Amino acid sequence: KLSRRLQRIADYITAGNRVADIGSDHALLPIYLLQSGRCPAAIAGELNEGPYKAARKGAADAGLLQKLEVRRGDGLSVLQGGEADSVTIAGMGGSLMSMILEAGDKAGKLEGVTELVLQPNVGEDDVRLWLLGKGWQLLDESILEEDGKIYEVLHAKRSADAAKINEQLYDGSFLPLEWDKGELKGLLVRMGPHLLRKPTSVLLDKWKLEIEKLERICKQLSGSELPESALKRAQFQGDIKRIEEVLQCLQ
Ligand code: SAM
Repeated sequence: KLSRRLQRIADYITAGNRVADIGSDHALLPIYLLQSGRCPAAIAGELNEGPYKAARKGAADAGLLQKLEVRRGDGLSVLQGGEADSVTIAGMGGSLMSMILEAGDKAGKLEGVTELVLQPNVGEDDVRLWLLGKGWQLLDESILEEDGKIYEVLHAKRSADAAKINEQLYDGSFLPLEWDKGELKGLLVRMGPHLLRKPTSVLLDKWKLEIEKLERICKQLSGSELPESALKRAQFQGDIKRIEEVLQCLQ
């Protein structure tokens, strides 16, 4: 049985698609997608020796070496354009994830890929910005808690209308806030345009925890004599105030 986090990722994959899971570790996700019949073929990519071996062992133990190719390499370099319909990347930071996507895109590795399912552990805003800049349409997002951690999953597809649809999606006028447009868009990139339109208790928890973290930093800074500390503290306090204003709209 998959963890709830991996299950949520699996549920977003369009049935029948060939999938490439990058940074696959034990290849639990592609093994599940093949065993459940949701996907006919899969590639698991791994950069590091230990996880690569674990993925190969997982595929062999499951009797799936015919359908699941385990390849060793950096990011999307393991893929040839046209080999996969869906790409999943999960369990790493958003900035590394966007670097992997950017390098792969430049090298033509996303040719033929119509769907991305991405689960950044932190830095979700980096991933949303990358998708926005590259004309991917953010179809849906979800947020869940598992073992005391909160995870976000982003589902994107290629679409000719992405620019128009994204413009509406990242238009924050549904929030009753008197902020300028750019500020609102930045906020949606950070907190998730779909997540803010269907707020859950987990979303509220995530941002309450973030406020607590920022408050701790402010407290530390207030003990510092450095002149730049006061400026930083004011910035963090402004940040806390903005997040609180948004949370108030959601409750
Ligand atoms: N995707 C699995 C999951 O979500 O449960 C495993 C996540 S694990 C925390 C992150 C994996 O990404 C590690 O196995 C690591 O070796 C791999 N990784 C890190 N950087 C990578 C890269 N540039 N290319 C491919 N794999 C990478």
